[in-house]
Amino acid sequence: FADSLESLKDEPAETPDGYRIKLLANTGLISDINLSLASGCDGIGLHRTEFPFIVRDRFPGEEEQAMLYRRVLEYFRPRPVVLRTLDIGGDKSLPYFPVHEENPFLGWRGIRLTLDHPEIFLTQLRAMVRANIGNGNLRVMFPMISRLHEVDEAKALLARAVEELREEGMEVEMPPVGVMVEVPAAVAMADKLAQRVAFLSVGTNDLTQYLLAVDRNNARVAALYDELHPAVLNAIAQVVDSGRQYRCPVSVCGGMAGDPAGAILLLALGVSSLSMSVASLLRIKWVVRSISRERATELLTLALDMESPDDVRAMLKRALDEQG
Ligand code: PEP
Ligand code: MG
Repeated sequence: FADSLESLKDEPAETPDGYRIKLLANTGLISDINLSLASGCDGIGLHRTEFPFIVRDRFPGEEEQAMLYRRVLEYFRPRPVVLRTLDIGGDKSLPYFPVHEENPFLGWRGIRLTLDHPEIFLTQLRAMVRANIGNGNLRVMFPMISRLHEVDEAKALLARAVEELREEGMEVEMPPVGVMVEVPAAVAMADKLAQRVAFLSVGTNDLTQYLLAVDRNNARVAALYDELHPAVLNAIAQVVDSGRQYRCPVSVCGGMAGDPAGAILLLALGVSSLSMSVASLLRIKWVVRSISRERATELLTLALDMESPDDVRAMLKRALDEQG
C-alpha cells in the first residue's frame, strides 16, 4: 500500500470529477522540508516558527531567524510558504520566558503575547521580510486572532518592518497577510476578517478545543474532542461562506485536514487548500483522487444533519471502506 501511495507523488490532487484542491504541508523542523517536497505538495500552508525558540536558551536574533526562514522559502520557491508568527503560550512555553497562568489556553498566547512585546514581534517580522528577498513566496500568518484590532495592529507592525528595512536600503516587499481562524469569535467575525486579509486558515485543533470547551491535551476528556462534531462543521461552513463572499481563500491547517474522514468533508465544503503533516500528504491525495466531489457533497449533507460526531465518523468510515 505504501508503494502505491508513493506512485501518487507527482499526480495532481484532483477528484475523479475534476475538482482540484491544493495540498500543503505543515512544517516546523528543517527535517520536515525534504520530506514534504518529496511528497509532491503545493507549498507550505503552516510553518510553525516556535521550534527554534523552544530549543534555544534565549530569543533567536533577527539574522539567525532570517537564515532559518530563508532556507524554507528558498527550498519551496516558487510555491507559497506561510510562515506563522510566534504562537507561544498555551501549551507551548519557552524556558527562558516563563509564563505562569491558571488557564494558559485562555491566557497570554499567540498574537496577544507578541503584540505586548513589539520588540520580539518586530524582530521576527523583519527576519521574515528579509528572508523573502529574492524569493517572493512568503505569506505571513497571525495566530490566535480574536479581535479585529489585533489584525490591524499586527499588519501595522509588519508595514513598519517593511518600511524600516527599506530605509536601511533593502529592496523588500510587503507580503500577503492571513490569519488563523481558531477561536470561535473569529468564526463569528469571519466576514470582517475576510475583508482585511489575503487568506484565512482554519486551525481545527484549537477551534475544536474552544468550540467544544474540551482541552486538546487532556486525556480524561479526549473522547469528547472530535473535529467532526456538527458544531465544528457548521463553524467551518460559515468561514467558507464568508471567504467566498469576499473572495478570500479559506484553507484548513488543523489535524482535520490530514484525517481522511475530515478531508472528505472539507473537500465538499469547498476549502481551497488542505494543509497537513507531511506524513498525511499522500494518503489524503489518495482520498481526494478516489472520491468524487459529488459523493463528498452527499456525505457532507448527511453529516450536517447528524446529531453526534460518532454518527458522522461511523458514516464516513463506511464510505471510506467502500472506496477500498
Ligand atoms: C490549530 O490550532 O489547528 C493549528 C493548526 O495550530 P496549532 O496546532 O499550532 O495550535
Ligand atoms: Mg492553534
